[in-house]
Amino acid sequence: MTELLPWQQILWQQMVTNPKPAHAYLLHGKKGIGKQQFAQRLGYYWLCLTSDNKQPCGHCKSCHLLATSGAHPDIFWLKPEDSEFIKVDQVRMLIDFINQTPQISPCKVVLIEPAEALNLNAANALLKSLEEPAGNSRLILVSHQAGQLLPTIKSRCIQQLCPTPKQSDALQWMQQQLTNVEVEQLSQLLVLAGSAPLYAVELYQQDVLKQRQQVVEDIKKLLKHQLVASQIAESWNNIPLLLLFNWFCEWLHCILCYQATKDINTLGMADMQKVLNYLADKASLEKVTQLQEKLLRERQKVLAKANLNRVLLIESVLIGWINLLTTR
Ligand SMILES: [Zn+2]
Repeated sequence: MTELLPWQQILWQQMVTNPKPAHAYLLHGKKGIGKQQFAQRLGYYWLCLTSDNKQPCGHCKSCHLLATSGAHPDIFWLKPEDSEFIKVDQVRMLIDFINQTPQISPCKVVLIEPAEALNLNAANALLKSLEEPAGNSRLILVSHQAGQLLPTIKSRCIQQLCPTPKQSDALQWMQQQLTNVEVEQLSQLLVLAGSAPLYAVELYQQDVLKQRQQVVEDIKKLLKHQLVASQIAESWNNIPLLLLFNWFCEWLHCILCYQATKDINTLGMADMQKVLNYLADKASLEKVTQLQEKLLRERQKVLAKANLNRVLLIESVLIGWINLLTTR
């Protein structure tokens, strides 16, 4: 059975003590805080045949099916299959499912994740089912980017923000998951993941700390003219572009904050503090803002998954960093 994360206890109590659950919930919040696990557990709880203990019992026919094969006739997962979107054909199958009566459990459960993957046609096809689902169905939509959802989808659900844990709770949980990793590294991962612990564990598994170290070292060498931009751009072929742009945007933000406040605490993670401090002293506000505008523009293209020449893109941004130090 999926575990209930420590920072979700209060929300869980609220949801399961509600005598009249709504027929559609939208669970939203940051990526990597455990929304999907929570939604799944709630679905299992609703399907459980003996859930008088405010938990899925783990023993009944329903719980047993879900634990062993995941194949349960009364649950439907709607998620992207062969593309990044959920398509209208998938929603049509969902509607067929909703129109049947439950076979084992007291109700049927639909999990839609992530809801922002519904393309326009799929979202529109879903509207009627969201309004008045037939056959005693309950829908749970999970969204990391609720701002991207159609207002018509949002307004048909009870919107529930899922909590991001406080740092100490997140670190404690991460220590249990990654027992061989130093606390210092765990805190770095948590910062890189924007306080989302499940995302932080994912970053660890993708070796992001090493990638970060490489980027930091190469940037230092670039600024000291020990490496040139094109060399670096070629060698960063394993580093996710979005991550790179996020770091760069964050660094420029730190520089701007420091220029405005002269407060050393605004300089972010220890690995770049000295460099950012140096750049903040040397570079004009105008140059920093220009580079920031460029980065935000390029980051949008990365987000939109535009067809980009990766090496050229990285090179031009790296040249932007060197230009911070030129006088003209
Ligand atoms: Zn059960």
